[in-house]
Amino acid sequence: MRRLRRCKIVATLGPVSTPDEMLAKLFAAGVDVFRINMSHTSHEDLRGRVFALREVAKRYRRPVAVLVDLQGPKLRIGALRDTAVTLSPGDRITLDGDPTPGDASRVHLPHPEILVALKPTDTVLVDDGKMRLHVVSTTGHSAVCEAERAGVISSRKGVSLPDTEIAVSAMTPKDHADLQAALEIGVDWIAASFVQRPEDVSEIKAIVDGRALVMSKIEKPQALTKLDEIIALSDGLMVARGDLGVEMPLEKVPGIQKRITRRCRRQGKPVVVATQMLESMITAPVPTRAEVSDVAQAVFEGADAIMLSAESAVGNYPIEAVATMDRIAIEVESDAVYRSIINAQRPEPEPTAADAIATAARDMGDTLEIKVIVAWTSSGATAFRIARERVGPPIIALTPYVDTARRLAIVWGVHPVVTKDAEDVDDMVDRALASAAEEGFALHGDRIIVVGGVPFGERGGTNLMRLAQLPPE
Ligand code: PGA
Ligand code: MN
Repeated sequence: MRRLRRCKIVATLGPVSTPDEMLAKLFAAGVDVFRINMSHTSHEDLRGRVFALREVAKRYRRPVAVLVDLQGPKLRIGALRDTAVTLSPGDRITLDGDPTPGDASRVHLPHPEILVALKPTDTVLVDDGKMRLHVVSTTGHSAVCEAERAGVISSRKGVSLPDTEIAVSAMTPKDHADLQAALEIGVDWIAASFVQRPEDVSEIKAIVDGRALVMSKIEKPQALTKLDEIIALSDGLMVARGDLGVEMPLEKVPGIQKRITRRCRRQGKPVVVATQMLESMITAPVPTRAEVSDVAQAVFEGADAIMLSAESAVGNYPIEAVATMDRIAIEVESDAVYRSIINAQRPEPEPTAADAIATAARDMGDTLEIKVIVAWTSSGATAFRIARERVGPPIIALTPYVDTARRLAIVWGVHPVVTKDAEDVDDMVDRALASAAEEGFALHGDRIIVVGGVPFGERGGTNLMRLAQLPPE
């Protein structure tokens, strides 16, 4: 079973996608990576879902990737005595460390580290920005804030602080526990929420210790100041437009999305564009024109993957949403404009054997009619570098490791296949040809490119490129 597009689809699981049969249908419709959001999932449900997804992988004999998304330090105000208080412009309310239920004059902010970090003029957004306040004065354990416009504050709503760098780790005790559970089960990607600085990525990478790949979600403006360092330390990125659009003016988000997508490609790191891509499909079987255009934009930019959130987690039309993304990606990638946009952003190769071979494979693919580039890879690194070239033909990644195959499921253009180690160069070429035919990429007489390294399995050992041809009928 092969996909007819290079851009991958990530779908978030939720109540509507829980039945095992639904998982199979979502996969068949085009989902390459399933996202499990730990904000809404117990450890028991996590285990159940991962197990069910491994069954789907067996049934279709395809690698299916699982991305576990950690909640991160999502800040909330405490409880109020009444369900809500209404503020008018200019009204003042104090955030403090007192856990007794709040009222129109004060409310608990159960994060002492935030009360220390707040400075006068800092913006405080409550409930996804529906209520906008700014700090007037602080004491170190309380902050007087003034409402900028009329609005309502209700119990335990989320708080965003776009101007304040918070001296807390990107991982809460809940995240640590969720991460341990995910690593024990053996998932493929871990997403870290509200990453602010490179050190946040190093911290989680140190715990994960190679047992999964780590994706940094960019949803705070603070992360943009050291974007390149964050990309360098991460295995992948997510443009998390939901929270990013709360913390930044909405009109800045499209430019940021383009910037992140391009910088990720430069470093050869996969990037996922997320949130509200087909939002109206939560309740309607067809998307709006604007949503189709939004999905198409991400594909034109060469994003590795596009993501569904509520559409597949709680929506009425999850399969239709996946099928819609699938159709849009296929159409965009066959548009003549697509190639010119992709080629205009081509990054310089780095002076490594892997990049020398990746660019040579790309050139050969542009010169001859090549049906597929087959890359032998143990860590996946070779496939990442070929994908970075955004080559013309699709890429098959042959690997003896199922973990590598699953991790590669999110990467642009890569069709991962698990196979036993190659014995020698002849075996490498023969099995590449066989795989190209079996997986539906090439027929009698078609030409393919084979990339690999001898001896096989050595890291960074890519040293071979071969033009090969399937025997004529
Ligand atoms: P979330 O992340 O769905 O976990 O909030 C995505 C986003 O903020 O866009
Ligand atoms: Mn978010």
